[in-house]
Amino acid sequence: MNIILFGAPGAGKGTQAKELTKKYGIPQISTGDILREAIANQTPLGLEAKKLMDGGNLVSDDIVNGLVGTRLKKADCEKGFILDGFPRTVAQSESLDKILENLNKKIEKVIALDVSDDEIIERITGRRVSKKTGKIYHIKYNPPIDEKEEDLEQRADDNRETVMKRLEVYNKQTAPVLDYYKKQGKVFNVDGGKSLEEITKNIIEILEK
Ligand code: AMP
Repeated sequence: MNIILFGAPGAGKGTQAKELTKKYGIPQISTGDILREAIANQTPLGLEAKKLMDGGNLVSDDIVNGLVGTRLKKADCEKGFILDGFPRTVAQSESLDKILENLNKKIEKVIALDVSDDEIIERITGRRVSKKTGKIYHIKYNPPIDEKEEDLEQRADDNRETVMKRLEVYNKQTAPVLDYYKKQGKVFNVDGGKSLEEITKNIIEILEK
């Protein structure tokens, strides 16, 4: 089960990836999470990436391709993997094909989560992440039972200004990735505006078809 979760920032890729990881026991590979970890550890890569991420811009293809190439070689990807937030450019898709070819693997399905721009802005500005568990919440639509206990924080790039930039980058640089996979007949669209549970159910139906 080698799949890509595709969609605009805030479409629900991370939330759904976590559900699928639980169900299928395959890892979520989020380039955003890997980069945020590098920032937290103040590595040279993290320091370079932070400026771009805070401005809502993409990190260079070479950097993320390298990160994903290393990650996909690990043993836990044997049974499959869920890519979340990668590929984000057509060049990254081409690089991914080469990486997978060398590993004798291929992408089977691309799940595209469709969400309107207005909803994206509402979701991202209200998104909070638990410092304790990494679980994703929304202050209005999906608040934790005990806010203090979860120790919520807001991502540095989850403010209104940066969201507008991220949407622009998505429409210009990332949306063409979908055509790349459409040509290969691998894209399955899911209405990302439904409830978390319904979306998970729809994705599972597609994966088990
Ligand atoms: P995400 O957590 O997927 O929303 O990613 C947060 C930020 O990390 C993005 O806005 C980019 O700056 C950077 N990033 C994550 N994945 C990629 C990627 N595949 N290519 C380039 N930049 C990325």
